[in-house]
Amino acid sequence: MSDCYCDFDEPWKVYSATMRTARKVHVCHECHARIQPRDRYEHVVGIADSVETYKTCANCLDLREFVKAHIPCFCWYHDTMVGDAIEAARHWAHEGPGLLFGAYRRQIKIKRAAVASRQLCQ
Ligand SMILES: [Zn+2]
Ligand SMILES: [Zn+2]
Repeated sequence: MSDCYCDFDEPWKVYSATMRTARKVHVCHECHARIQPRDRYEHVVGIADSVETYKTCANCLDLREFVKAHIPCFCWYHDTMVGDAIEAARHWAHEGPGLLFGAYRRQIKIKRAAVASRQLCQ
């Protein structure tokens, strides 16, 4: 991306993200919450050295989209996306008073849902 000024290393040769509706239980790659049947989630297939697939739950997507919408450029990695989003929100907090607060609020929601979904399955 030409207008990106993050120090971001794009690893993908091919990257394809689609929104899907779960037909069975999946686990969110970012927060490890369970994605229940009929929940919407993002399904990603990425090809770097090997083929990787990532499933991301609606709460994590909400945080990602929120941060992306409020800062000039948000680059992030799978595995660390939630942390990347919070870090970016901290970095750009001066841009608007709602940004960091909104990001924290979404992070709390992610954590609560992840805890709740673990309890459900024990
Ligand atoms: Zn960037
Ligand atoms: Zn998640």
